[in-house]
Amino acid sequence: MSAARVRTTFLDFFRNKHGHLLVPSSPVRPRGDPSLLFVNAGMNQFKPVFLGTVDPRSAMASYLRVTNSQKCVRAGGKHNDLEDVGRDVYHHTFFEMLGTWSFGDYFKEEACSMAWSLLTEYYGIPADRLYVSYFCGDAASGLPVDEETRQTWLDIGVPHTRLLPFGLRENFWEMGDSGPCGPCTEIHYDHVGGRDAAALVNANSPEVVEIWNLVFMQYNRDMDQSLQLLPQFSVDTGMGLERLVSVLQGKTSNYDTDLFTPLLHAIHQRSKVGPYGGRTGSADQGKVDMAYRVVADHVRTLSVCVADGVHPGMSGAELVLRRILRRAVRFCVEVLQAPQGALASLVPTVAHILGDVYPELHKEKERIMDIINDNEAHFLSSLQQGSRLIQRTLQRTEDSRGIFPASVAWSLHRDLGFPLDLVDLMLDERGVQVDRQELDRLSAENHKVMSELQSGALTRLTLDVQSLAALQRRGVPHTDDRLKYCYSLQ
Ligand code: ATP
Ligand code: MG
Ligand code: MG
Ligand code: MG
Repeated sequence: MSAARVRTTFLDFFRNKHGHLLVPSSPVRPRGDPSLLFVNAGMNQFKPVFLGTVDPRSAMASYLRVTNSQKCVRAGGKHNDLEDVGRDVYHHTFFEMLGTWSFGDYFKEEACSMAWSLLTEYYGIPADRLYVSYFCGDAASGLPVDEETRQTWLDIGVPHTRLLPFGLRENFWEMGDSGPCGPCTEIHYDHVGGRDAAALVNANSPEVVEIWNLVFMQYNRDMDQSLQLLPQFSVDTGMGLERLVSVLQGKTSNYDTDLFTPLLHAIHQRSKVGPYGGRTGSADQGKVDMAYRVVADHVRTLSVCVADGVHPGMSGAELVLRRILRRAVRFCVEVLQAPQGALASLVPTVAHILGDVYPELHKEKERIMDIINDNEAHFLSSLQQGSRLIQRTLQRTEDSRGIFPASVAWSLHRDLGFPLDLVDLMLDERGVQVDRQELDRLSAENHKVMSELQSGALTRLTLDVQSLAALQRRGVPHTDDRLKYCYSLQ
């Protein structure tokens, strides 16, 4: 089943068979919600409904049942999966969340039986490959076991052995420090089968992967942290499209599905290394395969974000996007040995894969490519200097226990604009680690200076000799520009 059909089967099932209103994905730049860097779940656009500040009866033409396919980015803030991307095969910085909502309409029984029927009857997933988790309660916060959900699953026919209790961390969903919250139940898929894999659920195993989260909004957490029952109970569910597609296409990796294979092929055409082999790990081929995954993931995120008006920049979501772009450039040029311009040239392939559902990708294609190319050109000379600096430093410190000097790592970040996580990755590939304690100290010191800058205590700003030298090298003469430069280091 193609990814496109998987998506429409989901939306049609909830729209045509169960009377849900299909709403479009909101842009990934959150509207009027400064607490978020990016939209990271389908429920974000319905936050006011859950909070009770908007009545769904008036806001959505009386529709109390809603479904959609939402563009999500998890690369910063509370949900940040950037570190996992490329290392595993099921976390992306950009992914699509297939969602359903009931605003005070149906509740646990219906939500669970609709989900089960879709997965097992419509998609034909064998029930003996599925595990279900439920909330086991938390005595300290006075929260009971979600017995209702447990019983619902038993009635549906899920055996005891596949019905697993988990605590607050896995199975109690909260929007933030206060606000609507409640227990959730999650469906996990065993990619291997024919064995008891209960121990692999929620254990970061690529063999048993979480696919669908069903949240039951029952409580409101007050500012004083107490919990009250909500006057109306709601349902909020979200399933990762890429993970579902990998299940339905019989693949153990999201990158082996039709959402990614044309992209991996296009990357190979531009690179001087062998094709993608689907390997993980740190051996040489593992390194190349990881680069393929990172570039494929990041170019999707860059395309979607730029199309929605988030550009690589100096703060907040923009800074996150700049970091993603620089990581992508580095893997493209250094590991995959692709020429300048290769990254941007992948955008039409992204538009080809996703543009029918998100037409802004077709419309904004040229602009996305220009922005990627401009930013790439800007970073490339720093990248070369940085790689040489790493090489030279390693030759100098070859015998010293594989610890890389923090001052050099910091200088890569501060003077050459390397994201620190990219420095980590580059060192990791060479089997060395940075002096973490010293790097944290340098970073904390920098933060202190930045907060002094922000609080207006400018007269107390003292630039060390190295910073001054770096500014001079870059020909930054004036205080104002120095200020801007300092902000750019955050
Ligand atoms: P995980 O435990 O695998 O990190 P999660 O519990 O953080 O997932 P939820 O917040 O429950 O995920 O989101 C609902 C669904 O969205 C998940 O069940 C999964 O299918 C999908 N999903 C979450 N994060 C990602 C991601 N980074 N890339 C792809 N799909 C994701
Ligand atoms: Mg997660
Ligand atoms: Mg999880
Ligand atoms: Mg989850």
